[in-house]
Amino acid sequence: MMIAVASGKGGTGKTTVATNLARVSETEIYLLDCDVEEPNDHLFLKGELKREVKVNMPVPTVDTSLCNGCGECSRLCAFHAIVSIGTHPLVFPELCHGCGGCVKICPTGAISESPREIGTVSTYQADHVVLIEGRLTVGVSLAPPVIRAVRDRIPPGKTVILDAPPGTSCPVVASVRDADILLLVTEPTPFGLNDLKLAIAMARELSVPHGVLINRVGVGDSRVHDYCQGEGISILAEIPDDRRIAETYSTGAMVIDTLPEYRAIFQTLLNDLLTGSFGIRKAT
Ligand code: SF4
Ligand code: SF4
Repeated sequence: MMIAVASGKGGTGKTTVATNLARVSETEIYLLDCDVEEPNDHLFLKGELKREVKVNMPVPTVDTSLCNGCGECSRLCAFHAIVSIGTHPLVFPELCHGCGGCVKICPTGAISESPREIGTVSTYQADHVVLIEGRLTVGVSLAPPVIRAVRDRIPPGKTVILDAPPGTSCPVVASVRDADILLLVTEPTPFGLNDLKLAIAMARELSVPHGVLINRVGVGDSRVHDYCQGEGISILAEIPDDRRIAETYSTGAMVIDTLPEYRAIFQTLLNDLLTGSFGIRKAT
């Protein structure tokens, strides 16, 4: 069972929701931090680091003594990561997607592959929460392989909460595409509504069942509520605009620990998500 927590834009409270949902569980639960450009779930859960592994991606290396300068490799590469300039091709590792196509097409066997470190996957234990965090190496922009490496570490049959990157770009799709349920966190503002619409469109395209959590209810207006009602999208929970939540977040504490009146919201939400005991809209 995988519950993905996502948002059309950053700053909506996605991390707060994902970490508190995991913490409120009374049994073992996996929390995947797939916001690999800026993972911060560990700041709140404060678990013990159990394991850290490197994520490598194969990038081509050209043996110029074997290269005949045919240019087949650069014509094949859609990412312009290997470019024929003069006699022999040049490789730009930061553009390479590690597809291996140039290796296969090279007629002389001049191209081999060597590993390039693109990130790390760290496993923390925080009570009954197993946190698996992906982190991109500084200067690397290729998030999906690191996200896949995080997801590969889930043992079969586990209950998983996945904290997706913000937005609706490739890393988000790589994170949430096979989730059982997608919980979209938004706020009742014009920006929140605009980005929620994009996230809903993504969920529908991926055919992932989805519902909405509206955070900071009390700011903005009713247009997010009206939109969800008009589209038949379930509003699964609402969290009021409470300055104390922001203060709690800024100190790296958990909302359910410092503001126990919110524990019931997260407990009910987690239970509903796990049991499907409400009408989550099935994507069409
Ligand atoms: S491995 Fe793929 S992406 Fe990388 S240089 Fe070769 S063809 Fe291009
Ligand atoms: S395909 Fe092979 S032989 Fe042709 S230019 Fe590229 S590296 Fe050289």
